[in-house]
Amino acid sequence: MKSVAKAELYRKLPAVDELLRSPELAPLIAHEGLTAVTDAARAVLARVREQIAGGHLDGAATELALSGLSSAIERELRQALRFSLRSVINATGVILHTNLGRAPLADSAVEHIRETASAYSNLEFDLAGGERGKRDSHVDRLFRKLLEQDAPGATDVSTIVVNNNAAAVLLGLNTLAEGGEAIVSRGELVEIGGSFRIPDVMAKSGAILREVGTTNRTRIADYAAAISEKTRLLLRVHRSNFQITGFTEQPPLADLVALARKHKLPLMEDLGSGALFDLSSVGIENEPGVLDSLGAGVDVVTYSGDKLLGGPQAGILSGRKDLMAGMRANSLFRALRVDKLTYAALEATLLAYVKRDHDAIPTLRMMRLGKQEITRRAEALAEKVRTPKLTVELLDGESVIGGGAAPSSALATCLLGLGCDGLTAGELAARLRQSETPVIVRVEEGRVLLDLRTVLPEQDEVLADVLLKIAAA
Ligand SMILES: *Cc1c(COP(=O)(O)O)cnc(C)c1O
Repeated sequence: MKSVAKAELYRKLPAVDELLRSPELAPLIAHEGLTAVTDAARAVLARVREQIAGGHLDGAATELALSGLSSAIERELRQALRFSLRSVINATGVILHTNLGRAPLADSAVEHIRETASAYSNLEFDLAGGERGKRDSHVDRLFRKLLEQDAPGATDVSTIVVNNNAAAVLLGLNTLAEGGEAIVSRGELVEIGGSFRIPDVMAKSGAILREVGTTNRTRIADYAAAISEKTRLLLRVHRSNFQITGFTEQPPLADLVALARKHKLPLMEDLGSGALFDLSSVGIENEPGVLDSLGAGVDVVTYSGDKLLGGPQAGILSGRKDLMAGMRANSLFRALRVDKLTYAALEATLLAYVKRDHDAIPTLRMMRLGKQEITRRAEALAEKVRTPKLTVELLDGESVIGGGAAPSSALATCLLGLGCDGLTAGELAARLRQSETPVIVRVEEGRVLLDLRTVLPEQDEVLADVLLKIAAA
């Protein structure tokens, strides 16, 4: 297009002030304020100018764009004022999806956050004595109850909470082994979830890594031979996200406990997942339980609040009272501690365990969901959305735990295979992602796959609406 013609089109654009004086925008300004509407108007006009510059608008199209300016500004504003962090439907079948926020919280946890966050609370206030209290007491109390119920052998355990399990390991190592050596098997020098690496955290903690054994085999004698006057700690790390099979050996936990006791050294175990419930009933084997480790005599365990435990993001340290007192007194703890929202969510989640109300915890409910129930929901959804444009088939498949937990466990599920006329699988997945309620799916072998295991039952209807809208577009 000639520059003369372009100049003519530019001249048709109203000035921002002029636009803001138009009666059509008055209600929007009254509602959202002049500043926000001005910003939106500028953005919309800039976009039109850009389109003219690129030669994408002729005279008629410019007229059309001008006639729709008010609604474009309103759309722009709505977009700008919308939260960036939004809830999505996780139809991937990955239960603890790190990119999707790991564990959705129990209703009771959300309610407890709401009631304690919207008012003052006794976060650090002892209501009985009227004095300053400790924020850990809220979680410590419940954890003790769990131990009484399920690991009576473990006594005198106290619990503190930090920002995540990486922080828990850092605090544990710094408190127990700074300036001395921490002994770890070479088969346990793991990297988990990108950027959590045992050797790196060890270096940051000021402890010196003393590797023993080999990648596949480490014996108790390897640990024993490495113990010297420099040793401060024996560390065991759960492999969480990978397996070593074949010619392997790891000393039983009891042997490590005995060795630590003999040398009066603390034994810390980084469990990662934080299973507080025996998951073998749902086919998840070999996942070490927090209570089992403490019952077996491990001095300190560290684990995540939002992996198998199913609570908020947090790192939890439970262990021998005298060692935990040292953690509490460490200034690092002050830097790593969590706020009242996390305590509220964690307290409500732990209370569900104390009450043995495991179905209150969404991730446990998802793990316990049978294939039959998922198939029933998948059939109902297929029935609703099957149209000439949308093809739906039911397939056998597997859900996974995710979040770097139970790498070998897969749960049998029923998948919905989706196809939409005129869209490739990638395009359909993108439409789903960009819908009003974003839906995240798997794309495998050119097919969109939905696993309802991780879709909350009350979201089935929303999901159907999203699919029908895409098909109708
Ligand atoms: C997941 C995991 C971590 C890191 O926990 P975050 O809560 O993600 O910080 C550390 N150690 C092990 C063994 C883990 O499984």
